[in-house]
Amino acid sequence: MLNKLRLLTPGPTPLPEEVRLALSRDMIHHRKKDFKKLMASLQEQLGDLFGTSGPVLPLSCSGTGAMTATVYSLFAPGEKVLVVEGGKFGERWRKIAESRGLTVVCLPVPFGRAVDPGRVAAIINEDSSIAGILVQSCETSTGILHPVDEIARRTKGRNALLIVDGVSAVGISPLPMDELGLDCLLTGSQKGLMLPPGLSLLALSPGAWKKAESIRPGCFYFNLPDERKKLESNQTLFTTPVNLIFGLKASMDLLLAESLQRIYTKQWALTMLARQGAKALGLELFAPENFAWGLTSIMLPEGVDGVKLLEIAETEYGVCMAGGQDDLKGRLVRLGHMGWVDWSDVLAGLYALKYALGKVGGYSASRDFMEAAMSAYNCALETGPGIVPSCSRMRS
Ligand SMILES: *Cc1c(COP(=O)(O)O)cnc(C)c1O
Repeated sequence: MLNKLRLLTPGPTPLPEEVRLALSRDMIHHRKKDFKKLMASLQEQLGDLFGTSGPVLPLSCSGTGAMTATVYSLFAPGEKVLVVEGGKFGERWRKIAESRGLTVVCLPVPFGRAVDPGRVAAIINEDSSIAGILVQSCETSTGILHPVDEIARRTKGRNALLIVDGVSAVGISPLPMDELGLDCLLTGSQKGLMLPPGLSLLALSPGAWKKAESIRPGCFYFNLPDERKKLESNQTLFTTPVNLIFGLKASMDLLLAESLQRIYTKQWALTMLARQGAKALGLELFAPENFAWGLTSIMLPEGVDGVKLLEIAETEYGVCMAGGQDDLKGRLVRLGHMGWVDWSDVLAGLYALKYALGKVGGYSASRDFMEAAMSAYNCALETGPGIVPSCSRMRS
């Protein structure tokens, strides 16, 4: 009761009031004219968000559903794909591909590092039978950005479709699909889009649509060519999660009223705030470069119980942050700053981190982290992230 709960996790994220109100509207029918009008008005906005002139399909599923729909619609059993595996979500691509009966060539990447695009290109050049490259833009489990722009440049014109999981990147860091030459871009509702979980969005390039049409879909529910046909009449194949579509309209209105460029700049500035703040606390950042714009991964000092620390941050300060997964469990704090989060939320997160750290026997520097963090934020807001969209290689 004393504290307001601040959800500073890399999804789900807090919801703006406009979105919450939109979600609470009474039901309308998903085959009638009001709904079709709403869907039609969303298509143009979603095209801007994805940077594509093609259709953007809503799917009723979490992000993993859209990943599954992609693999099952674009590749037939026995085909070969390259998976960039530098964390939990890369691993998820591999498991989905294996479940579809694909032959997986795995490119392992040390956790906390981005893939070297030269290595991806070398593998693709060597083996022309590879039909797809499965990669994340942001690998949320470690907090890095893979240079998908560079991968696109270096693998252009090859046989392999470039499939990008942008769940923790779309609406957070620039990823203009057509300009970069991505063959598939997908996202989920609960991250940069400031919505509850349960809705995914997906777009394909003309080449990827051609491939999808040449393949017998792997499952009944996810049939992307049929979904696209249905979308021409502003509907989805099955019952749409109508409230999430109301919410999506509200969130798109908010994002586009601000301009995406300014949203990206804000995300960049929040990243600078979090990184400088953590450094001023004397903590080490897990991703020294190629870092994500929607979360910051912070290493905990040796001997500190990270699970306990997160519990204290939540119960005593009302700040809910994420930890590391698998080998990184207890070793890492992932401070989320995507979606409906601003500077004061991130400062609250750093404050909770500093004092919770003290309570589990960790040390943090006494330097004024707030001043350091805020001056980094203000400076970043002013200067912006520099060259976009290729800003994934910037350092702080
Ligand atoms: C959150 C996330 C997903 C989707 O996870 P769901 O729980 O299925 O919504 C997929 N990829 C990345 C990179 C993510 O961050």
